[in-house]
Amino acid sequence: MNQIQGDIYINHTILQQMVQSLWQHAGSSKQEAQRVAEHLVAANLAGHDSHGVGMIPSYMLSKSQGHLQQNQQLRIVKDAGAVLTVDGGQGFGQVMAAEAMDLAIARTQKLGMCAIALRNSHHIGRIGHWAEQCARAGYISFHFVNVVGDPMVAPFNGSDRRFGTNPFCAIFPRPGQPPLLLDFATSGIAYGKTRVAWNKGVNVPPGYLIDHQGKPDIDPAVMHEAPFGSLLAFGLHKGYALAVMCEILGGALSGGQTTHPQSLKNTSDAIFNCMTTVVLDPAAFDAPDMQQEAEAFIAWTKASPQAGDNAILIPGEWEEAQRAERRLHGIPIDANSWQQICQAARDAGMPDSELAGYQPQA
Ligand code: NAD
Repeated sequence: MNQIQGDIYINHTILQQMVQSLWQHAGSSKQEAQRVAEHLVAANLAGHDSHGVGMIPSYMLSKSQGHLQQNQQLRIVKDAGAVLTVDGGQGFGQVMAAEAMDLAIARTQKLGMCAIALRNSHHIGRIGHWAEQCARAGYISFHFVNVVGDPMVAPFNGSDRRFGTNPFCAIFPRPGQPPLLLDFATSGIAYGKTRVAWNKGVNVPPGYLIDHQGKPDIDPAVMHEAPFGSLLAFGLHKGYALAVMCEILGGALSGGQTTHPQSLKNTSDAIFNCMTTVVLDPAAFDAPDMQQEAEAFIAWTKASPQAGDNAILIPGEWEEAQRAERRLHGIPIDANSWQQICQAARDAGMPDSELAGYQPQA
């Protein structure tokens, strides 16, 4: 570990050890702590700090408020063959979503496809992680996710927050190469990115935030200090419409909850997700040229003359580049977030002598 330009740079293996130990101190089984740590650090490695180890203080708060339940097992509520409904029992989303994907993958091996709806799970983090689990098995997947009762985003033409940052994700495996991966919040920027900006004391670019009166703003504080503003959906009415479908397919179809006056969490800091996932075995289709067709399209698209300084990327390529860079140089964490994580570790019961071993050297 070392310190460069104000950010702490920490080796991903050491960070994962620390996070695993933190959750074990906080009462998780070794296996649960390992899964949570792997997921959070993998999100940082993929460049999505909004869903990485910076979430730990929020999870600790949720645990202390009695919302996050440790050491839960996924419960199958209904098994209709190719369609499964499962309940996360407010358990760690990092475990519940992993177990749900295991079930869906096993069912897809038998049937060629599976739809699985997960409800009542604590925050499931970076959705791309679950799609990558499906792609490693050779499968295509898509995921509709809602955030229950925790509005952050204003509807198109609206002026206050009515629903969550509802991510959508899809993956296409490519043998011998990283998959194509679409994985984003339907808000213009993820809420966690406003937290990262707020912790760093920087503004966000224009077009993503409105203040409490519905006026455009660039100060991330509007999402973290009263009076609260809202995020805007990406792509005007299109992103808003996709967010609506994520809310309904994620929250309602799973037998979970959508966001409305009866589900608003008000004082709670917990984040609950519902996710409806469809997994497809490409071998079940009659598409012998599928991979060649996909590669031909990718090559054709990337051959477009570059318009400016930035290369043409395909979905998922940005995350691959981040992984390569961060595996080599470490994961950057701003000083505020690092302090908050260390405090969470102390609150979890990690002794100072152990914590000292994870501190970055100047
Ligand atoms: P983002 O805006 O960084 O977009 C990421 C997507 O865009 C990826 O698919 C990436 O490969 C692709 N991409 C990036 N640059 C590209 C380029 N030049 N060309 C083509 N594709 C490109 O993502 P975000 O909206 O900030 O979301 C961040 C993370 O937050 C995601 O992993 C998402 O799953 C997660 N999230 C989770 C929740 C939750 O409740 N669990 C809520 C919101 C978001």
